[in-house]
Amino acid sequence: MDERDAYEAEWEQGGSPSPDFCVVCGKQIDVPRARKYTCSPDCKRKMRNIIEARTKGQKRADKQKRRAALKTIEKAKPLHPDVKKKTSHLTECIAAARKAGMTYGQYMGTKYSRST
Ligand SMILES: [Zn+2]
Repeated sequence: MDERDAYEAEWEQGGSPSPDFCVVCGKQIDVPRARKYTCSPDCKRKMRNIIEARTKGQKRADKQKRRAALKTIEKAKPLHPDVKKKTSHLTECIAAARKAGMTYGQYMGTKYSRST
């Protein structure tokens, strides 16, 4: 089985190893020169399925990892970043004073003289 794992690793890396045994069932291949990795077309199909399933599983695992990482980042963000919305009372008074063509002091003075 060690030989098969080594073969699969080489195969996944784009290599073309030529073992003299069937990589699926381990049966000796009579003519290794033919570069058949399996003893029969059936075993060949099985071999492809095994390797493809393994690569797909790996890709899926990577995707899930990335998604989990993104979720963690989103959680770290503040949910309601509305700090900018809040304007202080002082700022409002100054703005109102400017609208009326007065300084803040003048505005506050007229405001108090009116109310008293
Ligand atoms: Zn076989």
